[in-house]
Amino acid sequence: MWREELIPINPITRPGTPLRLVRNIVIHYTGNPGASAANHVRYFGKTLPASKERYASAHYFVDPGDAVLIIPLAELAYHASQANPYSIGVEMCIEKDGSFHPETVRRTVAIVAELCRRYELNPLRDVIRHYDVTGKHCPAHYVDDPGAWEDFRQAVEKAIKSKEVYVPVNRPTVIKERIIARDGMLEYLPFNYNKPGTDVRLLKIERGKAKFKLVARPDAKVSELVKEHDADFGINFPYFDPSAKLPVGTVWDGTKYVNGAWGKTHKWHFLAFKDGCAEIRLPGSAVHDSDCAFSGSPLLVSNGRAAWDYYREVEETATDIGRDANGNLVRCQRTFAGIDAEGNLLLAVSDGRTRSDQGLTLEEMALYMLDKGAVWAINGDGGGSSVIADRSGGINQDENVGANERAVHHALLIFLQPVEQSKDWKQESVEWLNAQGLTDAVRDPDTTPTWAELGAVLRKMMR
Ligand SMILES: [Zn+2]
Repeated sequence: MWREELIPINPITRPGTPLRLVRNIVIHYTGNPGASAANHVRYFGKTLPASKERYASAHYFVDPGDAVLIIPLAELAYHASQANPYSIGVEMCIEKDGSFHPETVRRTVAIVAELCRRYELNPLRDVIRHYDVTGKHCPAHYVDDPGAWEDFRQAVEKAIKSKEVYVPVNRPTVIKERIIARDGMLEYLPFNYNKPGTDVRLLKIERGKAKFKLVARPDAKVSELVKEHDADFGINFPYFDPSAKLPVGTVWDGTKYVNGAWGKTHKWHFLAFKDGCAEIRLPGSAVHDSDCAFSGSPLLVSNGRAAWDYYREVEETATDIGRDANGNLVRCQRTFAGIDAEGNLLLAVSDGRTRSDQGLTLEEMALYMLDKGAVWAINGDGGGSSVIADRSGGINQDENVGANERAVHHALLIFLQPVEQSKDWKQESVEWLNAQGLTDAVRDPDTTPTWAELGAVLRKMMR
């Protein structure tokens, strides 16, 4: 529903103060005609902190094609004076003519509905305008037109009741979350790093919406292979042989086995891809009917149930993956994958072994995947190999202190299918009517057609 591009903590726009209470969602407009959500991310992340002109920010920026969270929901933003300590600020971008694009409104409604669900807020009471707090003329359109504002709040209420899932036209993006788990309890943490925990990056690819390819080249890093093959994303997964510089285990690239079996990997499960769908296959399965496949271990979630320790035993996974010689849980960077009940793929990497990130245990991975809806999940090669990259480079590397991207000699590449632009059928209808000379050029597509227009269309059809 939104992507996350957190700005660095700084006194001007992101003080890092915990937000302990959310009583209101405050709606704003950017007052900046034609400027996109990404423009504002840059402004509040870099320009304003450097110029120190004023204290200002908000949690979300929404435009017709994008929605970005720049400040964690567990932290306070500077957007509504006295309401800052108990509210979340949502900024709506405006078009060049100062209006809200209908897609910006739809997108904002969906986000606010989700926030109302999470914080158990009543949209007709708790969703407010900046104007309602300070009297500022913001958002201008909703101050000038109280009817439109009421429509907005009603739309939020409807979205909550209908539980309708809004599918944005956005491309999938990597989201970041911070977690800790022990004894079956999973907790999400704020990004203030006051408590031990681990940052996890998750990429969800809907079933059939991407193509997958395994490429292997000695000395290659995942981020290099993403660029070379012009892929959208890349991630490491199979273990590799440092001397041969190739992935090991059963690794099928669609045409050949990349390297021979290694150690006990014949007992391991497979992550396989076929026609854009991910599958987890049993040890010993044939994989040459797939587009690519490789073994991983241990299985973390089996048929909807956490099962990491069982499979660590039966698959004889190296002890340093599960527990050390003293029986303590081993924490480190991880790469793991899950498949939910709809067949969507969940790819995750975690940080670890740094001052701010302790790394994940197998249990944490299993619980996290279950929480994301996975019914199957499997562990891949972790430690310093864990990396997820897009065309700009390794996404998890910047904050993974001391861990520059390592050559893992392969990459699982993800090629997204081109997104079909959702067509505005009303606008198209008006254009058709115009082309037929059946209506005047300046016609609001949202007004009901006249009988004369409908009649004209019918006559045209029958002719
Ligand atoms: Zn405002």
